[in-house]
Amino acid sequence: MFISSSYPFVILGLMTDKLVLLIEDEQAIREVERAYLEQAGFRVMEADNGKTGLAMALATRFDLIVLDLNLPQLGGLEICRQLRQGGSLVPIVMLTAKTEEVDELIGLEAGADDYIKKPFQPQVLIARVQALVRRWGHKTLHIGPLTIDQATQAVTKNGQALRLTTTQFNILNALASQPNHVFSREQLISQAYNEGMDRDIFDRTIDAHIKSVRKIIEDNAAHPRMIMTVIGRGYTFED
Ligand code: CA
Repeated sequence: MFISSSYPFVILGLMTDKLVLLIEDEQAIREVERAYLEQAGFRVMEADNGKTGLAMALATRFDLIVLDLNLPQLGGLEICRQLRQGGSLVPIVMLTAKTEEVDELIGLEAGADDYIKKPFQPQVLIARVQALVRRWGHKTLHIGPLTIDQATQAVTKNGQALRLTTTQFNILNALASQPNHVFSREQLISQAYNEGMDRDIFDRTIDAHIKSVRKIIEDNAAHPRMIMTVIGRGYTFED
């Protein structure tokens, strides 16, 4: 399935804090992908079918997803669509076998960021993954009076530095990354917490976090103008 490479594999800086989800039904491919990703310093979680993969992608904040197109239970395109519809901006690299006559554009239209055809050199996959994670990790958002640096987690308001905890930052970052998109509490919880955290979190916890973020970023937290409550649905960042 893979073509071995004759040139040495160059690691372009380790990404030890980055978590990748592999959704791939063929065990042999998963093992090769995992080995190369781990060699490049990524932490890796795996799903061998679409349904489990989507559930994991919704429950945990990944830095990137490597998504096979043809999967049992739920296909890669549908997973991609559902993640994007749910407001997830996680970078997605889609993989497909050459025999699958699916136009590259369909994958990109479904919301994939990149697209690789099998068989591929694992080095190519790693290079694309690193490029996407870097791009994703170094975006700076300018929204209203706020500047949000996703790489350093620094937030400023009219040039003044604000202090946010990681959870507060993750919530603000999720909301501000997609202005005017309404996030449910559940979606915000999955954006806010990394794997290994206690998943038994109540809606009120998110409400409390939103309250604390408002206190930090709003002129008047009692009358917010950035993070708005959408009754019965959740929260949105109003552009
Ligand atoms: Ca497959």
